[in-house]
Amino acid sequence: MDNLINCTRCSSDACYLNEVTQDIKTYFCYGCGYQANSIMKEGEEFYEQQIAMLPELYKDLLNKDDDGMIWMPSTINLPQQGMVFANGPSKEDWGWAAVKAVPVTETEKEKYPIPGKKGQHYEWRMDMTTLQMFPEHDFMDCLSYIGVLPE
Ligand SMILES: [Zn+2]
Repeated sequence: MDNLINCTRCSSDACYLNEVTQDIKTYFCYGCGYQANSIMKEGEEFYEQQIAMLPELYKDLLNKDDDGMIWMPSTINLPQQGMVFANGPSKEDWGWAAVKAVPVTETEKEKYPIPGKKGQHYEWRMDMTTLQMFPEHDFMDCLSYIGVLPE
């Protein structure tokens, strides 16, 4: 069951709670772009595994709430729409980068082969020339930019 709740991090009312099981809850806040998971707690194996794979900026931006749950910036990657990720030199100076996906044209086909699948190519690619930076509090504008939310 899904619910909208108040975000413990930014206090917006756009935090989406998904109760996967009785013990596992995931949180995704459209207000601040952060996400959390009830099993993402320090010392848990799942947590340590996830953290090890994160880019340095994400590690620096991790945020522990009063319940010990760890919030991290979201990464959106939708092959046919685009991607949104935290970007910047440091946690004092970062924002959201949004990039639009575009269809791969007939002449570009050979540049985007699917690994291990002979003769097949991707239908969509991320067009890095569309990369646009948004301030930290404008996460929802990023989603509009790549067409996930209406303008
Ligand atoms: Zn929030």
